[in-house]
Amino acid sequence: MTENQAPDAVADAASSGSPAVGTIAFLGLGHMGGPMAVNLVKAGHTVIGYDPVPAAVEAAKEHGIPMAGTAAEAATGASVVLTMLPSGKHVLDAYRGIDGQPGLLEVAEQGTMFLDCSTINVDEARDAASLALQAGHRSADAPVSGGVVGAEAGTLTFMVGGSGQDFEAVKPILEHMGRRIVHCGEHGAGQAAKVCNNMILGVSMIAVSEAFVLGEKLGLTHQVLFDVASNASGQCWSLTTNCPVPGPVPTSPANRDYQPGFAGALMAKDLRLAVNALDATGVVADMGRLASKIYDRFAAEGGAARDFSGIITDIRDKSEQKGQ
Ligand code: NAD
Repeated sequence: MTENQAPDAVADAASSGSPAVGTIAFLGLGHMGGPMAVNLVKAGHTVIGYDPVPAAVEAAKEHGIPMAGTAAEAATGASVVLTMLPSGKHVLDAYRGIDGQPGLLEVAEQGTMFLDCSTINVDEARDAASLALQAGHRSADAPVSGGVVGAEAGTLTFMVGGSGQDFEAVKPILEHMGRRIVHCGEHGAGQAAKVCNNMILGVSMIAVSEAFVLGEKLGLTHQVLFDVASNASGQCWSLTTNCPVPGPVPTSPANRDYQPGFAGALMAKDLRLAVNALDATGVVADMGRLASKIYDRFAAEGGAARDFSGIITDIRDKSEQKGQ
């Protein structure tokens, strides 16, 4: 069955303007998925969750989300299967089934929308979409930016990959969890946009941090360098919103000892996805590859749970060691 021939229960219900899109099976109620699911419930959706970790189950129940005992139980009879999982392997395993358990693609009713909001490899997103379509379902990838704060506030940005019809079907659902819903292109394009954006972010944060440490050595105050660069060609989000030194931007994680924010482990993960995409496409990107190595080391040496802007302390410490 082709995508256009698949039943379109989700789009039909969504186009009625009400949140009555049928039951949404929500798999993965962790740091992001938990508050996202809460926002769907608040908007009036019928949600049934599943997570293998008891603490996540308890937290979800406390927030009024009914939980199923298995992933298959959650997906049976749902019109949307939304996944918010740690990696592409988790998503593909859940779709196909492992250890003799039936996969979600098998148990779901024909025409179910498989909506994956996890951050995964572009190739994995395309594979997930192909599997869903082959099984007679619909599919969209919709990774997010905005972090846990955005998930709680319902202000995430969703980058959506799928056909125009897929986009129109999932948009009313995503609007209850986010503020900007961007159609990036066909299946996998949401992940492609996310990986490109985060490669810019990783590289730019290292560049801004190196410049501040150099400025310190050259006798510039943080405020002076900030005032000049934020009004000149060095201007970027890593400088003006997530400034890696305390002071110039009071809301940046540097002002609270680099509590995330966006954790170093997640930046390391996203840059590994970027390197996978670089390898797959043959793009020469020395900066992206180097940023991946730098953040892998940062995460391994204690930065995993710190905001990724904490890379500046790493650069400063290593510069001090070299100077001794
Ligand atoms: P998390 O580890 O807190 O949550 C993942 C949840 O998935 C866990 O509760 C885990 O038990 C559950 N899970 C694992 N296998 C499962 C399965 N088969 N079925 C159902 N649930 C299963 O991770 P998170 O921070 O919520 O991130 C989720 C995704 O969002 C990741 O892909 C991450 O890269 C992406 N993301 C995270 C952030 C962030 O700031 N945390 C920001 C943007 C994107």
